[in-house]
This record gives sequence, structure tokens and C-alpha cells, in this order.
Amino acid sequence: QREAEKRDCYKPALTADGKRIEVVANISDVPEAVAAVEAGGEGVGLLRTEFLFVNRDRPPSEDEQVEIYTAMLAAMNGLPIIIRTLDVGGDKEIPYLRMPVEQNPFLGERGIRFCLAHEDLFRSQLRAIYRASAQGPLRIMFPMIAMTHELDAALRIAEEVRVEVGAAPVEMGIMIEIPSAVVMAPELARKVDFFSIGTNDLTQYALAMDRMHPTLARQADGLHPAVLRLIDQTVKAADAAGIWVGACGGIAADPLGVSILSGLGLKELSVSIPSIAAVKAQLRRQSMADNRALAERALAAADAAAVRALR
Ligand code: PEP
Ligand code: MG
Repeated sequence: QREAEKRDCYKPALTADGKRIEVVANISDVPEAVAAVEAGGEGVGLLRTEFLFVNRDRPPSEDEQVEIYTAMLAAMNGLPIIIRTLDVGGDKEIPYLRMPVEQNPFLGERGIRFCLAHEDLFRSQLRAIYRASAQGPLRIMFPMIAMTHELDAALRIAEEVRVEVGAAPVEMGIMIEIPSAVVMAPELARKVDFFSIGTNDLTQYALAMDRMHPTLARQADGLHPAVLRLIDQTVKAADAAGIWVGACGGIAADPLGVSILSGLGLKELSVSIPSIAAVKAQLRRQSMADNRALAERALAAADAAAVRALR
């Protein structure tokens, strides 16, 4: 089975009834971009740019970032990269950024909130992204959007930067990882080209269980029907607005998660590099009709254990 997985990992993943799901990679650096393509990734669904900012004593300069994004695009050889703008805060602390000491960092100045409060840093990253954008297909994604005014501010700044740099427009998207964004998805969907569901954070915020908690984290299952219903609501809002939805959290690579998420209508699964071949192989073995039926049963389940018991 492993041999067949390897042999077929470069082909697109079509379900047994012919529906295509894109399988792309979560990466953080240039070697991982190379590895993602070698593993059969059809692109990068999540570049976690915070890793360019760690283990150093000052932020990477605009020129340094241009070089890194350009090297990644070269490694991808024409396949698209979704670049997520800096997502610090929560558990991702960067000493030189002098981030505020907070009682609840996961509920604090995280992700887009930090970037909007530190506009110079945000602008320099966006400048670098737009400068690199002529070198290959890239998309920009904002993390931790909770409210429409944050998205409006981020889009306005990005557009100003794009015009300054003289770059062509690129597709813009947001992470859906906060329950308020799910509730506001119809409004948010009108402003962007795609959604990517961050199931790790969506689960922690929906269930009010810290994803790093020593005892609770195990219960914070992204296949809990409460989370699945939020995902379903997001897909319906996106469909109504005519935009596509992917997922980039851990359950996108969970075997049951692959079936349920594709059954819920996600068009793209962004997973860690070692999972790419297995996710593609699994998608091919199953039909979308069966996955839809499974997703319906999961939505109707009472708790995560009941979902996990489905087959
Ligand atoms: C998520 O929250 O699911 C996600 C993919 O982002 P991160 O794990 O980087 O917070
Ligand atoms: Mg997240």
C-alpha cells in the first residue's frame, strides 16, 4: 500500500466518484517548500511566516523576506503558495517584538490584531510579499480575523501597499478560526476570494479549551459536532458568496477528518508534508457521496466520541 501511495502521490486526488480535492502542504521554510513538492503537494495551503521571525534578535528585513518568498516560489515551480501574514501571540512569543504580558494570551493581541497594532511590521511584510508576487502564484491570507472591521483594515493596508509596490492584485483570503468569524461568514465572504478553516484554533475557541492544556487538550477534538457545525455553516456562507473553502488545521490529515471535511464541501486540505500521500490515497478510495452521508451523520452526533465511533 505504501508503494502505491508513493507512486501515485504526484497525481491529483479524485474521489472514487470523480470529485477533485486539492491536497496541499503546511510549511514554514524554504526546505519544506522543496519537500512539499517532492511529497506530491499541489501547492502550499499555509505558509506560517512567524517562523521567519523566530530564533533571531530583530525582524527579517523587507529584502530578506523578498528573498525567502522568492526562493519558496522557485521551489514550488509554478504551484501556488498561500502566505499567511504574521500570526504571533498566543503561544507564539517573539522576545524582540516586546509583546504585551497578558493574562490570557490566546484571547489577547494575537494574529491580525498584533499586526494592525504594529502597522510598520505589517506593511513591511506585505511589501515583501507583493514584491515577490511577480515570481510565481501566491495568495495572501490573514490570521485570526474575528470581526469585519479587522478585515477591512487589513485589506485597505494591503491595497495601499500593493499600489505603492506596483504589483498586480493577488487572491486574498482569511483564516476562519474564531467562532465570531463563522457567524459573520456571509459578510466576510463578500470581501475575500477564499476561506481556510484553522481547525486547531476554531476548536479551542468553540469549546473554550486551551489547545496546549495538559489535560484538556485531548478532549478538544476538532471532530466535535459543535466544530463540525461551525465548519458546515462556513461552507454554506462561502458557497452562497461563490468562494472556495479549505482547511489547514490538524484534523485535515486525520483519516476520519479527511472523509468528513471533504463530505462537508471543503475543496482543499492543507496538511503536514508526511501526510500528503496518505491523504491523497484515502480520498481516492472513498466516494464523495459516501463522505457526504458520513458528514451528515457526524453533524447529527451528540459528541466527539459519537463522531469517532462512525465508520
Ligand atoms: C489553526 O489554528 O488551525 C491553524 C492552522 O493555525 P495555527 O495552528 O498556526 O494557529
Ligand atoms: Mg490558528
